[in-house]
Amino acid sequence: MKKILFASSETHPLIKTGGLADVAGSLPLALAELGQDVRIIMPNYQGIKNCEPGRYLCTVRVNNCDVNLLETRLPDSDVIVWLVDYPPFFNFPGNPYLDEAGRPWPNIGERFALFCRIIVEVATNRAYLNWHADIVHCNDWQTGLVPALLSLEPNPPATIFTIHNMAYQGLFPGSTYAQLNLPGQLLHPDGLEFHGMLSFIKGGLSYSDRITTVSPTYAQEIQTPEFGYGLEGLLAHKQSHLSGILNGIDVSVWNPANDEYIAKPFSVDTLKDKLINKTALQQQLGLPVDSETPLFGLIGRLVEQKGIDLVLSCLQEMTTLPLQFALLGSGDKSIEYRLQEFARLYPERVSITIGYDERLAHQIEAGADIFLMPSRFEPCGLNQMYSQCYGTIPIVRKTGGLADTVVDALPESISNGSASGISFNDASAAALIEAIKRSLVLFHNRPVWKKIQRNAMVKDFSWQNSANQYLALYNEI
Ligand code: ADP
Repeated sequence: MKKILFASSETHPLIKTGGLADVAGSLPLALAELGQDVRIIMPNYQGIKNCEPGRYLCTVRVNNCDVNLLETRLPDSDVIVWLVDYPPFFNFPGNPYLDEAGRPWPNIGERFALFCRIIVEVATNRAYLNWHADIVHCNDWQTGLVPALLSLEPNPPATIFTIHNMAYQGLFPGSTYAQLNLPGQLLHPDGLEFHGMLSFIKGGLSYSDRITTVSPTYAQEIQTPEFGYGLEGLLAHKQSHLSGILNGIDVSVWNPANDEYIAKPFSVDTLKDKLINKTALQQQLGLPVDSETPLFGLIGRLVEQKGIDLVLSCLQEMTTLPLQFALLGSGDKSIEYRLQEFARLYPERVSITIGYDERLAHQIEAGADIFLMPSRFEPCGLNQMYSQCYGTIPIVRKTGGLADTVVDALPESISNGSASGISFNDASAAALIEAIKRSLVLFHNRPVWKKIQRNAMVKDFSWQNSANQYLALYNEI
């Protein structure tokens, strides 16, 4: 049994801004089920919800700050969560990275440097918790200083650093280094320095024993200039220690057979009941109720990464095709505005909901026929997996985890029973609209469509498989 300290800046359902929270809320649980002793560590934000209040454990002094450690658990589980409680940094409204007005916290570097220092104290049993980690599993730049700081310790635990998104690197002006009072030995081009700046993510890449990312294809992509953001050389140099492990999904939350948010639960054996969910969704969104018109769904952050600009370029033409489109998301204000304009002009075809709504997300997954995910890059992606479980055929761009989890419906894959979606290569509106038209043809070929739905619904996206791969890696180092 390994003692694993799982360090993350967000954990579902305590606090979530994206896919990292889903991983932090699921992987430790799956590892615990495999008999491992896993503890999660994260900051004690004001916005934390859905868990018992943290019980005070101890106070640890780092960098002249007295920091409390509190203990709670992941809801409905025995997995311990240690909350790093330092009110001057974390007791504010807003999310882990942005204030209430959507501006990055001005002291975000100080916040996560403190978080990293505490992780080091806990991992090395200097926090009086009588627990010494064998493995510290760090996630994204917010924990990047941990492998670097641990490299200065005698007998440090082994470290894994998982990249959930290379686009976020924790880059700060060089002067921040001295402000954070970080040890001088780490500031060099093979360490935390990146072209004269301080890079948190380089701490994880340069000093951890293994680097993972969240899909095999993304592990290859980040070794190229297009996806590596200047760190492709370092990643290529580390390639023998770099691998991709696909995220799983939480099948207790995303299962059409017992989804309490949807009008009528269904499974691969009662696929016809999916139509009840489509009807309910059309009614709820004010779209004409029509079983024959394919309903396209999209859920996600409205940012360029997700290819939302491609969707906007296609929307005019989409309104001339026999289809409906339901979108749920929030993000870039100008994108939100332009989408809402389409809904205003074409209320019979387009429904746009701006906001974050877990219930509606489930209802769209259950009620839509087709799911759009034309991401420019996608480290792993979750919605294309949810979609397949719900028999909602995803249209994806062939990149990252989308390439690894969706099998394009081509004659061969249809006949051998592996087709589970539609994929396209170019990040262009023309390629997307062609894929949409391809999906319309397939949709109206009912026997083939049912076959693709069935193929998609029986795929296993549970965490068990991924957790076993992580465990194999922990045992290797
Ligand atoms: P990313 O982490 O890049 O945002 P992922 O697909 O990996 O993308 O994970 C996004 C998660 O957030 C999914 O669980 C998705 O359903 C959820 N999500 C994103 N936007 C919304 C929204 N507006 N309402 C409800 N859920 C959302």
